[in-house]
Amino acid sequence: MENLNTPIENNDKPKAQKPRIFLVLKIIVGLLLAAGITLIICGSILYEGFSMMVFGGFTCLVFCIPLSIFAFSPNIHKTAIKTQKYIIDQNQEDLKDLSSQTGEIASAGVKHVAKAAKEGFTEDKIFCKHCGSEIDADSKFCSYCGKEQ
Ligand SMILES: [Zn+2]
Repeated sequence: MENLNTPIENNDKPKAQKPRIFLVLKIIVGLLLAAGITLIICGSILYEGFSMMVFGGFTCLVFCIPLSIFAFSPNIHKTAIKTQKYIIDQNQEDLKDLSSQTGEIASAGVKHVAKAAKEGFTEDKIFCKHCGSEIDADSKFCSYCGKEQ
């Protein structure tokens, strides 16, 4: 609950070096995209209808999709974290209210359970002589039928 005030970013740790693979993949995605668009445009200018060139262009674009998802996954992840951080920053007051209210509810529940457990262990119970209901051992009258014990 106090943690909301401290920034989520941890600047103490040295930044892990970005894996080269993602840069390579981004270049491949860029090349495939460029090649695909070029092939589609050239194919449709040079040949009428659906040619092998256009087909090749579309193939390049199709391969681009999964590759780009993989290549940009670190960026997507970073954006998601930044978005979450922004949402938390924007709603700090509400979140504080929420967490304190949740805490109050939880502590009330714990108190209730603790009280019940304590009573259960310490208080003696007897059964009414007349109706058989469970009542406190020190009660003079039954709380159910009202008859004297
Ligand atoms: Zn009774």
